[in-house]
Amino acid sequence: MPIYEYICLKCNNRFAMLQSLHPEEKNTECPNCSSREVKKALSSFSCSTGSGSGFSPSTPSHGFGGGGG
Ligand SMILES: [Zn+2]
Repeated sequence: MPIYEYICLKCNNRFAMLQSLHPEEKNTECPNCSSREVKKALSSFSCSTGSGSGFSPSTPSHGFGGGGG
């Protein structure tokens, strides 16, 4: 099941809620202040790893040979 992020407009609390395939924002309340005034936040995938080597250079992919078919 997908997890949606919400932001409480009252206490600015950020929490994640497990929503079904059909998300309903009406029954979403803040677990901190139990407020219904929440806003759906955009899920951002940020991958941060420890300090180390950066991204590897693009490797030469296999050339597409052959004629039309
Ligand atoms: Zn709240």
